[in-house]
Amino acid sequence: MSERIFNFSPGPSMLPESVLKKAQAAIWNYNDSGMGVMELSHRGSHFEAIIKDTEQRLRKLLNISDDYAVLFCTGGATNQFSMVPMNLLAKGSVGNYILSGMFAEKAYEEAKKFGEIHVAASTKDKGYREVPTEIALSTNAAYLHFTSNNTIFGTQFAHEPDAHGAPLVCDASSDLLHKPLDISKYGLIYAGTQKNLGIAGATIVIIKRDLLARSADTLPAMMDYRTYAKNDSLYNTAPTFPIYVTGEVLKWIESEGGALGMEKRAWERASILYNFLDHCDFYAPYASHESRSLMNITFKLKDDKLEKQFVTEAESCGLNGLKGHRNVGGFRVSIYNAFPVEGIKTLVAFMGDFAKRNG
Ligand code: PMP
Repeated sequence: MSERIFNFSPGPSMLPESVLKKAQAAIWNYNDSGMGVMELSHRGSHFEAIIKDTEQRLRKLLNISDDYAVLFCTGGATNQFSMVPMNLLAKGSVGNYILSGMFAEKAYEEAKKFGEIHVAASTKDKGYREVPTEIALSTNAAYLHFTSNNTIFGTQFAHEPDAHGAPLVCDASSDLLHKPLDISKYGLIYAGTQKNLGIAGATIVIIKRDLLARSADTLPAMMDYRTYAKNDSLYNTAPTFPIYVTGEVLKWIESEGGALGMEKRAWERASILYNFLDHCDFYAPYASHESRSLMNITFKLKDDKLEKQFVTEAESCGLNGLKGHRNVGGFRVSIYNAFPVEGIKTLVAFMGDFAKRNG
C-alpha cells in the first residue's frame, strides 16, 4: 500500500503528517548539525535544547506551575504502576484505587506488592461500562489513584473524582492533553507518549514537588522520582527520539489551538460517531452514555457473526485497527489528538453502507 490509511489503533497511533515529515528530515540531518536526531548525544547541546524546549511547551500547554516537576521516564505507564506506590505509599498509609478498567486493575494489583491498598470504588460488576461515581476512601489515604480514560472499555471520567484532600494520582495514558486540565487538583499525573503525545518510549510524569519528599532513600535510583527531578531527566540516557517527537507533536498542538483546540477536535470527532451509533440499530455502543470516552469509542454488531466481514471490508477501505480488545470484543475506534476528522467521516460512511447491505 503506497497511500497512508486511517489507523484507528489504540496506541501507538496516528501522528500529525507534518510531524512525520519533519521527523523524516531530522532523522537524516537535525537542524543542519550534520547529525541525525537519533544520533545526537543526550548530553550534547542539541538534545539538551530539545528536552528543555519540550518540557517548557508542555508546561505552557497544560499551565503547569513551578510547584510541579515534569519528568521524562521510561518503562511506559506500566512502570508507573510500580513507581507510584514505591514512592508515595509511606508505611502506615493506604493506597486508594478506583477500579474502572483493566489498566486500573493492573495498577491496583501491582500496588498490592508495596503496602496496604484499598479499593475506593469499582464498576467491575457492571462490566466496566461506566466509571464509578461513589468514592469511599480509607482512613489515612496516601493517595487516590484513578484512570482518567479507560482505553479498553471506552469510558472516561468527565471530571476528576473527589480525593477528599488526599493527593490525586492519575493514569492519563490515553487522554492527556486532549483538553485543558486544572493541574492544581492533582498530586501526580502520568502518561506514556504513544497515544496523544507522540510515539512509544517515553513516559511523562507531572508530580507536585512536595510529594518528592516521600520517596525513601532505599529505592533503586531509576525507580525514585527524585533521580529524574534532580537530574532534569538526564541521570541516564533518556529516550531521545521519543522526546524529540513529543516536542514536535506539542508544537503541532500549539498550532492547532493548544489544549482547547484539541478539546474541540475531540468533541467534533467523537460526536460524529456517537451520533451515528445512536441512530443506527445495527450497532450497539458498549459504554454507558454518561461515561462515554472522547478517545476510544467501543461498540458491537448486533449480529456478531458479521464481525470478520466488517474488519475485512473496513481494511479494504483503508480503515485499520478497529478490532476491539479481547476482553470486550466488538470494535474500538481510537481517535487521539492527531486523528483527522476526515477519518471519522470515512468510517461512518462505511458503517452506514455496511449496515444497509447487511441489516
Ligand atoms: N494505562 C492505560 C490507560 C493505557 O491505555 C495503557 C496502554 N494501552 C497503559 C496504562 C499501559 O501503558 P504502557 O504500555 O505504556 O506501559
